[in-house]
Amino acid sequence: MHNLTTAGVAELRAAHEDIRRRYQAFAERKLKLNLTRGKPSSQQLDLCNELLSLPGADYLAGAVDTRNYGELQGLPELRAQLAPFFGVTADRVILGGNASLSLMHDAVVYSLLKGTIDSQQPWSRESRVALLCPVPGYDRHFSICAQFGIEMIPVPMLDTGPDMAVVERLVAADAQIKGMWCVPKYSNPCGTVYSNETVERLAKMKTAARDFRLFWDNAYAVHHLTAERVEIPNVDELCARHGHPNRAFIFGSTSKITFAGAGVALFAGSKDNVAWYLKNMSIQTIGGDKVNQLRHIRLFNRNGGVTALMERHREILAPKFEQVLKTFEQQLGASGVARWTRPRGGYFISLEVLDGCAKQVVKLAKEAGVELTPAGATHPLGKDEHDRFIRIAPSFPELPEVAQAAEGVAVCVLLAATEKLLQSHAG
Ligand code: PLP
Repeated sequence: MHNLTTAGVAELRAAHEDIRRRYQAFAERKLKLNLTRGKPSSQQLDLCNELLSLPGADYLAGAVDTRNYGELQGLPELRAQLAPFFGVTADRVILGGNASLSLMHDAVVYSLLKGTIDSQQPWSRESRVALLCPVPGYDRHFSICAQFGIEMIPVPMLDTGPDMAVVERLVAADAQIKGMWCVPKYSNPCGTVYSNETVERLAKMKTAARDFRLFWDNAYAVHHLTAERVEIPNVDELCARHGHPNRAFIFGSTSKITFAGAGVALFAGSKDNVAWYLKNMSIQTIGGDKVNQLRHIRLFNRNGGVTALMERHREILAPKFEQVLKTFEQQLGASGVARWTRPRGGYFISLEVLDGCAKQVVKLAKEAGVELTPAGATHPLGKDEHDRFIRIAPSFPELPEVAQAAEGVAVCVLLAATEKLLQSHAG
């Protein structure tokens, strides 16, 4: 495949004919493939099947009867097991239900209805509330904002994380910008790791809002795809060092460590943020699901802890990512009509196609039997103004299906691109 962007009309027409035939052949296989959501595969879930029989009849965690009410903050032993991965001590962790997304949702709602500990009034009493949203980003963060009428201000992602020059300018000038969504490690969907400088600048920057918050969604803290265990600076310590001890609301979960549907989520932060969160949470519950917390403690103890378990996830996941990258390289490498990220961790590959082609690629793929995340989902309100980004999630299907799906996507990218290029030649 030659570079299509520099091809003449005759060469493009010939390429288009050939690609259309390949597309039809692919569609005729009537496959049903799905690369939409970043779900763990059954094989990954099987790694933790012991959870289904734990904790057994022994329901005591030390002196705590896990069947009963209480222990609002969560069992200390599980907090101690998880805390180091989020750069805090166990006393600064709160365990939640099965979804960190709920904790993020609640942190936003508490801030809106009650205000943070640094707020003069609840955010909902302000004339407007805005959060910075690095793009491409995670659609469910954007949905929380949309749900509560919070303005979303997009900030471009660079290889080092969000464009800090833009971030610093915006937050310094506008007191209604109350916070920012951050997925600092192996971001969704680009796999970006925030650089040391980016984290430092986020902790240090001057914000017009005195109650500015980083919604630090460290969902992929331990989700490495290579032998390298990438680490990022400790945001909590840096914020404290720069005089903003309450700036970071830290979130995480075991969704992609144990069971996505029955894991344990966590909130972490400064002593005062933890007290604030607990106070609000105490109105909602008398205590979390400690039986689930206890079975997690026992599972981690039996399996050599979180790190050992994540190695086994990597063995299953890494070949799927390698397969997609290999197929894209073979099929699209020289074409000039696509580029993609090569993540060192996390659950996604971000595929960038020719401007104005992403929606068409998703449509063509669907018609040929490959379900993709809707184009635009990576942007606030679903608006990718250049119609360029597609999120690829290779975790759920089995490896042979991943290979087929990646091949199908590549053909759709080429087809959409040749159609677009022929149109622009005609125009
Ligand atoms: N945060 C990010 C960045 C994600 O990609 C996901 C899931 O894809 C979540 C949070 C969801 O986490 P949880 O299952 O803990 O709600």
